[in-house]
Amino acid sequence: MPLDYDQTLFGDEHEIFRRSVRHFFETQAEPFCEEWDAAHSIPRAFWRKAGEAGILGIGVPESLGGPGGDFMHRIVIAQEMGYSIAGASIGPAFQRDQMCEQLMDFGSDEQKQRYLPRMVKGECLMAFTVTEPDSGSDLSQIRTTALRDGDHWVINGAKTYISGIADADTFMVACKTDPEAGARGISVIFVDRDTPGLNIGRTLKKMGCHASNNGELFFDNVRVPAKNLFGPENGGFKVLALSLNRDRLMWSIISHAAATRAFDLTLAFVKNRKGFGQTIFDFQNTQFKLAEMYAELMVGQAFIDRALQTYLRKGEVDMMEATVAKLWLPEMEGRVIDQCVQLHGGAGYMDEYPISRLYTAARLHRIFAGTTEIMRLQIGRSLR
Ligand SMILES: Cc1cc2nc3c(=O)[nH]c(=O)nc-3n(C[C@H](O)[C@H](O)[C@H](O)COP(=O)(O)OP(=O)(O)OC[C@H]3O[C@@H](n4cnc5c(N)ncnc54)[C@H](O)[C@@H]3O)c2cc1C
Repeated sequence: MPLDYDQTLFGDEHEIFRRSVRHFFETQAEPFCEEWDAAHSIPRAFWRKAGEAGILGIGVPESLGGPGGDFMHRIVIAQEMGYSIAGASIGPAFQRDQMCEQLMDFGSDEQKQRYLPRMVKGECLMAFTVTEPDSGSDLSQIRTTALRDGDHWVINGAKTYISGIADADTFMVACKTDPEAGARGISVIFVDRDTPGLNIGRTLKKMGCHASNNGELFFDNVRVPAKNLFGPENGGFKVLALSLNRDRLMWSIISHAAATRAFDLTLAFVKNRKGFGQTIFDFQNTQFKLAEMYAELMVGQAFIDRALQTYLRKGEVDMMEATVAKLWLPEMEGRVIDQCVQLHGGAGYMDEYPISRLYTAARLHRIFAGTTEIMRLQIGRSLR
């Protein structure tokens, strides 16, 4: 089953772009992912090639060195990365490219000039740093502070679980600039890697997505110029919330695409593998399981198409649809890929079969970019 999206939502230029993105992941990422997973890193050359292929910084205009393009080009990348087995290795590190979009929305002219021309070439990699040892889902509880001292911000605190930390050149850091004001006291500040007082901690060992490394950051009286404030002072929650809606939709689409790939791999596997004098596909149990998965994938795609129609009509991602998508699609992906592993038998547990990597990556999709429980919480509150 190929990705069976509503093609009327995309123009010819998106479909041409899709072919080049698919080719890029197939030739420049998939063959190397095992090596990158083992090294817990993605070589800089990959990012430069992605920049040359025009798939970094969608939406950044040519005047800033970008490829231009619109939100639907970004959707194409999410679909193709999710469908590629490479997504299971590089996904979280690759998605940080969405920071170009945030910069276009909230960056000052000077910040756009400083970062975007290098980001679109893969020469400046960013990391998005919100989560702390004592706060994740509850953003209002972050403790990292940035206090004003003349023309500088002085930052103290710690961050953890940060994706792509090993090669990040610049960190987009959520801080409390008014520590007493809860969510209304948060601002986002750029900190470059070589700033004195910024210390990179351990690379954390984890279950999957190994190439997309994760780690800790410590801020010990880190001084950055006042102009590094990104978006309004104490308006960081708004900066983060806007990108969060888009991010939820993107990760829902990635989850669906990865589940589709898992289904395709499994269908091929069961038609080939034999037992008890027939193929595994020939067992009615297998066909029932495949039928359930097929139905879940089709229903999921219909909801994604609806959310994209809404986007095209309103010019923005609908918050409730993005939340429903992020609640349901990664959970659906989990159900589907779990069955796919089962139908692979022992092979499903072996890393040399891509289904194993898709399984561990899928587990992440229910946790980050907002956990399933936070999606339930927000939908529940809206029903009051
Ligand atoms: C591989 C990976 C990559 C990541 N990359 C980044 C990154 O690049 N940058 C970054 O800033 N962060 C990153 N994170 C962190 C991620 O965003 C958080 O782990 C996630 O938001 C959950 O926060 P937490 O781990 O603190 O869990 P907690 O918030 O402590 O939640 C623990 C459990 O309690 C549940 N829970 C919490 N609040 C409620 C509630 N009100 N009602 C019901 N249940 C609740 C949660 O759903 C969860 O099941 C990454 C995490 C992983 C695993």
